[in-house]
Amino acid sequence: MCKWLAVTISALVSLSCLSPAVAQSRRGELRGAWMGEGYGRDWPAIMTSLKDNGFNAFFPNFSIGNMALYPSKVLAVLPDGDASRDELAEAAKAARENGIELHVWRINWALWRTPEDLLAQLDAAGRLQCNSSGQRGKDDPDVKVDWLCPSNPENRKLEKEAMLELVRSYDIAGVQFDYMRYPGGDYCFCDGCKERFQQSQGVKIEKWPDDVRDGGPFAEKWQQWRRGLITSSAQEISDAAHALKPDICVSLAAWPDIEAGRDWYGQDWVPWAREGALDFVCPMDYTTDDAHLAGLVARQVAEVRAAVPVYAGLGAFEMKSGEQLISQVEVARSEGADGFVAFAYGSGDLDKWLPDLRATVTATEPDPMPHISPPARFTFSGDATQSPAGGRDVIAAAKLEVEIVLGWEPPTSDETAPGAAEAVAMLDRILNQRSTVDTYESQPPAGLQPTDAERISGRIVVESPAGASLLVLGAFDTEWRFERKLSFTTPEGSFRLAIYGAVAGPKGKRDFVVRAPLMVGVKAAL
Ligand SMILES: [Zn+2]
Repeated sequence: MCKWLAVTISALVSLSCLSPAVAQSRRGELRGAWMGEGYGRDWPAIMTSLKDNGFNAFFPNFSIGNMALYPSKVLAVLPDGDASRDELAEAAKAARENGIELHVWRINWALWRTPEDLLAQLDAAGRLQCNSSGQRGKDDPDVKVDWLCPSNPENRKLEKEAMLELVRSYDIAGVQFDYMRYPGGDYCFCDGCKERFQQSQGVKIEKWPDDVRDGGPFAEKWQQWRRGLITSSAQEISDAAHALKPDICVSLAAWPDIEAGRDWYGQDWVPWAREGALDFVCPMDYTTDDAHLAGLVARQVAEVRAAVPVYAGLGAFEMKSGEQLISQVEVARSEGADGFVAFAYGSGDLDKWLPDLRATVTATEPDPMPHISPPARFTFSGDATQSPAGGRDVIAAAKLEVEIVLGWEPPTSDETAPGAAEAVAMLDRILNQRSTVDTYESQPPAGLQPTDAERISGRIVVESPAGASLLVLGAFDTEWRFERKLSFTTPEGSFRLAIYGAVAGPKGKRDFVVRAPLMVGVKAAL
């Protein structure tokens, strides 16, 4: 039974009273920081300082290649820490107590910090990557470190077990892939890869490696195969992690240049984000040039198509002042990011700048987290979508229609799993390029589950990228699923459709926010 409370289309709140010179805060975003090796730390002090400065997520590194910074049963344990402490358990506890989501950052494949004797064993077992000259990563001046070969079944198992151990053994919000790729385009040409590629294609390669390199008869198949090994590893780990804990978040520190990531590093992350391997993505958009940052975020947001949130990774280590970081937080928002992760806490001047952020861009409380939301679908149509430029541009002061579907199919009497029908035809729709009707679908694997929500309520707004409300479209309070077609007159400039709401069920009530992609209202040419 749906109660449609107030469809008021024209409750326009003017933005003109807001000075663009004053940095704004925004609710409903992830505000996080990465941190290098997690040992010898005062975890309660770290989490308190994050909370006090308006942050809600933390990404410390506890897992590197074959080495762990916690008492692992899967990986060798680094000798650096105090063996009597389990710092990951301490970090998880302190994070929970302060309302901070702890996402454990793992460096996949790359064997930094691995002792020589262990490297020699891995080499003898044929588990290390080689380039086309037969050189190991550590001997390649562009790579400097050995990497595990991703076609080797033992290595794939190690990657999976290392990630799953974190999920299984610790009360954490998520795990994050980093280095989930190759060290470069000239990898991996080890004997195992040659053997397994031939097997997968059912062919014998006569001229190795020339036949699989650019211009060779198997070049394209080779690229697909090597990329597919990374994709399938990410997908298998994500599936297994979500099977263990449905609400665990699996995310990626992503290569910022989408094409280079896919073609050179074998990290084809846009489909991972769109097709359910990731709950959110953090492209490492490290630059001191705001225009460069804007271009990177705009492209990433456009490609991900609101399937999951994009949280821009900001390179605080390269910056000279807190003002510069504040400016980049605003740039990331203005291009449609749903939050940011600064690199890195405990290094450079980031810790010193946190109060500057608190006084400006993180002044308000950050929650709810954008990656914890019900499934949502937004289908746009109407005159405003006829912009000749396409992309994110729409015609300003024109009619934009949106069909909203939010939540789950109600459970049926035969106990069919609610929500199962949601996935049907999703891929076709989200892969369609922009046309007169455009559909955006968000269904992160760790999003709120149907079991969480017997009632769903919310408020639909059109907001500026900085979070100021431009239009209030209405409010709702219903069971399981909200569906409505609305229309409104597009504002000029950047805007996003957003729903701030709550789901209530047996586990209590949880707030959420879900946003459609950024759109830009452009005046029609006369
Ligand atoms: Zn290999």
